[in-house]
Amino acid sequence: MSGKTKSICLLTFDVEEWFQVENLKGAISRSEWKHKKSTVSQNTHRILELLDKYHIPATFFILGWVAKRQPDLIREIFKQGHEVACHGYGHERANLLKEDHSLEDITRSKHILEDTISESVVGYRAPNFSISDVILEHLKELNFIYDSSYNPFQLNRRYGKIAGKLQQKSDGYYITQNGVYEVPLSSYQFKGIPIPIGGGAYFRIIPFRIFKKLVKSKLQQGSVYNFYLHPWEFEPQQERIKGIKLNYRFRHYYGLNHTAAKLEKLIIHLKELGSQFLTIKNFVQKVEAEDN
Ligand SMILES: [Zn+2]
Repeated sequence: MSGKTKSICLLTFDVEEWFQVENLKGAISRSEWKHKKSTVSQNTHRILELLDKYHIPATFFILGWVAKRQPDLIREIFKQGHEVACHGYGHERANLLKEDHSLEDITRSKHILEDTISESVVGYRAPNFSISDVILEHLKELNFIYDSSYNPFQLNRRYGKIAGKLQQKSDGYYITQNGVYEVPLSSYQFKGIPIPIGGGAYFRIIPFRIFKKLVKSKLQQGSVYNFYLHPWEFEPQQERIKGIKLNYRFRHYYGLNHTAAKLEKLIIHLKELGSQFLTIKNFVQKVEAEDN
C-alpha cells in the first residue's frame, strides 16, 4: 500500500472480569462476583506488554466495577499512553435497563474513572454492544464525545439498534442525531452480508489466514478498522464453568490458547499494511478537525 493515505486501526479492549461475561450469566450470578478469583490485572498486563512492544496506543473501555476495585491498574493503562474510556458500571445490557437505571450506571462509572485518572472520559461502549437511542441521549447529557457500540453484524440478537438517523461520514464513523460520534465495530460486506471481523469470539474462531485477508480487503477499501478483545480472552487456563449452553461455551472458550499469538500476528500484518494506530479519542478529534 502506498504511504499516501494511511489506513487507520483502532485497537480496543473491554476491561472486565471473566465471570462478568454474558455467556456465563446463567451459571454465575451477580452476587457471586465478589467470591470469584480476579484475573483482570494479569491479563490486561499481557495486553499492555504486547502494545508496548509494538508502540501502539489503544483504547480501554473499562467497567466501573473493575476500576473501583483496581484503581492502580487503570492508572497504569493511562500512564502508558492509552485512552481510558467507559464500559458502564455493572455490565448490564444497557438497552434492557430502565432509563434512570442506565443513566445511573453510566454516570457512576464515568465518575469513578475520572476520579481515578484525573482526566475527563469521553468515550463509551455498551456491554454486549447494547446501544439504543436512549443511551445515546444519556451520552450527550453526560458530555461524552463518542460511542463505539454499534455493531453492523445484527445477526447477534444481543446487539443493540439505533433507530435515530445516522449520518454516515465515511465507513469509519457516523454522526448520530444528537451529535454524538458513533464509531462502529468493523464488519466486512460480502455480497451484502456483513461478516464480523471486529474481534472477540469471531477473531478466535475464524482461521487467521482468512481473517487476515478480510481485514486487508477492508483496509484497501479505505476503511477504518475498529477491533476489540477482552482481557479474559488472553487466559487459556481460565476456570471452566459447567451448566452453560453449548454454543455459549464454544463462544467463550474456543481458541483462548492462541489469542495472544494471533493478536501479535494481526498487529504485524496491520503494520505491514502501513496502518496508523490511534486511540478512538484521537481518531474522533482528527475527523472533527477535518469536518470543521
Ligand atoms: Zn463487556
